[in-house]
Amino acid sequence: MREDYEILSNLGQGSFGSVYKAQRKSDGLICVMKIIPVNQMDANSQEDSLNEVKILSSLDNLYIVKYFDSFVEENKLYIIMEYCEKGDVSKLIKTKPNLLKEQRVWEIFLQTCLGLEYLHSKKILHRDIKTLNIFLYDDKYIRIGDLGVARVLSSTTTFAHTVIGTPYYLSPELCEEKPYNVKSDVWALGCVLHELCTLKKPFEASNAGALILKILRSSYPPISSMFSSELREIVRLCLQKDQKKRPDVQTLLKRPGIKEKILSFG
Ligand code: ADP
Ligand code: MG
Repeated sequence: MREDYEILSNLGQGSFGSVYKAQRKSDGLICVMKIIPVNQMDANSQEDSLNEVKILSSLDNLYIVKYFDSFVEENKLYIIMEYCEKGDVSKLIKTKPNLLKEQRVWEIFLQTCLGLEYLHSKKILHRDIKTLNIFLYDDKYIRIGDLGVARVLSSTTTFAHTVIGTPYYLSPELCEEKPYNVKSDVWALGCVLHELCTLKKPFEASNAGALILKILRSSYPPISSMFSSELREIVRLCLQKDQKKRPDVQTLLKRPGIKEKILSFG
């Protein structure tokens, strides 16, 4: 119930509602409260909001933001979830005067891979992987968040409105209005890795049309040779324009040396 929580501060505006830092009165737990007004929404948006709850509550993974509770009160949907106190990866990138250390890039990237591997194993597509939606839980762990537009893959679902989220991370197949699939999440993952290495987005333009042309036709700016050839190879694999050539997350995690890397910081 709403009265079980005290709001501490406003964290920002979500696409559907406001997001607050809150505290559960019974035990002092610090958490995030997403408040989504459901009455003024059209049926589709209502469904999207309930969708986040349905998907989040079915998940249990170290690399996905933990869901605690949800309820509807006075025409508002409340979602209570884990608070990640160190901000998100986009903020980390913005405040960095120098490039990240290779070890830090691997840590963030591989944990994101592990979270995504979990989602894909449950046939869930995230559909909005980006640095803004990867949260820093503490100095070590990340959590993938914002499953507002995630979808369960099913043969009966048709994706009429596939173009959602930030166009910077749109994969070539989405630019061509083909349906979203696991490889489109892998493209976004490649964009995140590229951003971790260069602190810039791989494809940028002043308008959506120019951006789409770039995504379809241009190559991304090269990554500093200060980073290992393995890291640069993974960027190349994930950012292949042809989705059939792009590996899935499971295949990425099977590459030589990856398991050892995960164990070294896991
Ligand atoms: P949107 O639907 O617009 O993507 P988000 O869920 O990403 O909304 O959240 C909006 C704001 O709240 C962002 O500034 C984000 O950093 C913050 N936020 C969201 N979830 C958490 C969380 N679990 N921990 C800390 N901050 C969060
Ligand atoms: Mg978001």
